[in-house]
Amino acid sequence: MSSYLALARKYRPQDFTQLVGQDVLVKILSNSIKQNKLHHAFILTGIRGVGKTTTARIIAKTINCLGENSIQNAIACNECDNCLSIANSSHQDVIEFDAASKTGVDDIRQIIDSIAYAPVMAKYKVYIIDEVHMLSNNAFNALLKTLEEPPARVKFIFATTEIKKVPITILSRCLRFDLRRLTESEIASHLQNILQKEGFEFESEALETVAKLSEGSIRDSLSLTDQILAANNYNSKTTYDDLQSLLGLNDLNQVIELMMFLLKGEVQSSLKLFSEFYARSSDVSHLIKDLMHLIHDVTLLKIDFEQKIAGYSSNQITNLKKIASEISIDCLNRFWQILGKSLNEASFSISAKLAFEMLIVRLCHVVALPNLQQVLINISPKENKVVEKINNNDHQENDDLVNEVLRNFEGSKLI
Ligand SMILES: [Zn+2]
Repeated sequence: MSSYLALARKYRPQDFTQLVGQDVLVKILSNSIKQNKLHHAFILTGIRGVGKTTTARIIAKTINCLGENSIQNAIACNECDNCLSIANSSHQDVIEFDAASKTGVDDIRQIIDSIAYAPVMAKYKVYIIDEVHMLSNNAFNALLKTLEEPPARVKFIFATTEIKKVPITILSRCLRFDLRRLTESEIASHLQNILQKEGFEFESEALETVAKLSEGSIRDSLSLTDQILAANNYNSKTTYDDLQSLLGLNDLNQVIELMMFLLKGEVQSSLKLFSEFYARSSDVSHLIKDLMHLIHDVTLLKIDFEQKIAGYSSNQITNLKKIASEISIDCLNRFWQILGKSLNEASFSISAKLAFEMLIVRLCHVVALPNLQQVLINISPKENKVVEKINNNDHQENDDLVNEVLRNFEGSKLI
């Protein structure tokens, strides 16, 4: 039996045409390779799993490819000796260096010493330094001079998830590319293609949920898919219900139901439903995050009813729209703030269960609160100096004042 290759490795892009969602970068790099005007140092930045190291290897391959029209088209052949050995990280002239494990100046010195030697079998020596922000200050300083005037046949490609930690002296000597986060629909359609090739099928809701959980990282989406396929015993079809039980996700219908109870201020029904969630999983932070996702999506719908929201069935979308039409932006904001704060409270409290129950009571009361602006306007000027000030000033200043009060208002202060 052949060993199973992780999807992220099996479908790692091998040339610029396969790189997903990084069109600007591909265009600029391809053009400079075709014109033989490639800069000597690059820095690639972006969140984990968007293709930084992959891009670095593709550059190394493309400029060293022995294929007939590879340079002319800026597409590596993936068949010549150079392409094959770069792809499996065994090429003598393409040196991959992980700055997370080798941070010291001595490690960098080894690199600098080796730069003087001409490439053995490739046209260019390529140094790929991953997580470059981890290098020590001394190591960065040692690199500076080489970066300033590297030998003609040397290219540096740095990758980092934390560009702010890279000294400006290094940045100013590199051409910078920001690899962007992929959208949920880009990830979903990429996954769909791969699953089809592998002979698996995910129900569309399941696919959208995986895309959502990956938060823009293509590698995370593939690793998660691997995990789901294995947990589902490589069944040809994975439904949303399967996904939910495999990943221990909360039942979205029930989260929406809980949200509806909270918004109606129904404390008892909310507490009862919460006890069902708690019986299944004691990690209430998941439930808080799920509620926050809902609040976010309902707010989007509130702003634009036609907004496309991924990861819900049509029935669920109908329910979310109903919520959006009945609740004010003001209230959504207060829910968001209170839930956000409670994320920390729930984990530090003596009991997450007690904390969540108190949270339910608090949220249910928030709904019953009137709009603060209305309250301020309705209070008699004699009893309230703020309102007196409002009445004595012109309209613009009134708005500023009310906004200022609203900014400091936490919802619960009126209870
Ligand atoms: Zn090649």
